[in-house]
Amino acid sequence: MRSLALSLPHQPESDWAARPGRHIVSLSGGKDSTALAIYLRDKIPQLEYVFCDTHKELPETYEYLDKLEAFLGKKINRLNPQRGFDHWLEMYGGMLPSAQVRWCTRKLKIEPFEAFVGNDKIWSYIGIRADENRSGYISIKPNITPIYPYKEGGLVLADVERILNESGIGLPSYYEWRQRSGCTFCFFQRSAEWIGLMERHREAFEEAKRYEKEQDGERFYWRQSESLSELEQPERIEQIKREHIIRLEAERKRRPDRPLIDIIGAALDAEEDDVGCNICHL
Ligand code: SF4
Repeated sequence: MRSLALSLPHQPESDWAARPGRHIVSLSGGKDSTALAIYLRDKIPQLEYVFCDTHKELPETYEYLDKLEAFLGKKINRLNPQRGFDHWLEMYGGMLPSAQVRWCTRKLKIEPFEAFVGNDKIWSYIGIRADENRSGYISIKPNITPIYPYKEGGLVLADVERILNESGIGLPSYYEWRQRSGCTFCFFQRSAEWIGLMERHREAFEEAKRYEKEQDGERFYWRQSESLSELEQPERIEQIKREHIIRLEAERKRRPDRPLIDIIGAALDAEEDDVGCNICHL
């Protein structure tokens, strides 16, 4: 395992490794938590890595985790070996999760993590950046203490990108069309990301469609505004793509110096800039 000398402008000294207890990074398969694992690997040799598998992840996510695992030289503990999304959907009577009723995050991310750590003293490292205005998952369990290394060190998006580039891990390959980790059918996806899923992972898109239903006059869709069957109509696809291109062009003009991947992210945010899930999308 080669050590990595990162060329970051600010890397404050910390006593993290000396603190008694277990030290854990929860990985989402996204860029921020991945870069955090790389950033902390040499600082906290006893660090443990965890990934809560929803069983509905993109193949690119598993490939990315495998690549990271090889770099870290340590096993990533993959939780939820038996009970994935379908099990809990059945337990919730077929009610799809939504931004308002987000049972998926509790059942597939929070509870497995809390079961994994038990009553041990835990330092939980969270990949919220200094340039983000969100807090991430804060456990109500008194034995889990959150730590925000990026915030403590003032690390922003450019630093995360630098860490990923210098380690050779890079960004997840799905970033070309989707900028959030997590389930294939995550309801936080923007229109252009759904189209990306449809074009690149047709089976996953079809599966997402099969989960949607109408019952007793109620519509159970992933998106409030339309079903996936409506979204996949040719004229709707064309409209979504057209609007996405307009946003891309506007972002390109606004920030010509930024790499394409950032432009894509900004264009997606321009459609809908909610922060997504503060656990799944790190
Ligand atoms: S990625 Fe989305 S659908 Fe999956 S657990 Fe997280 S919030 Fe729920």
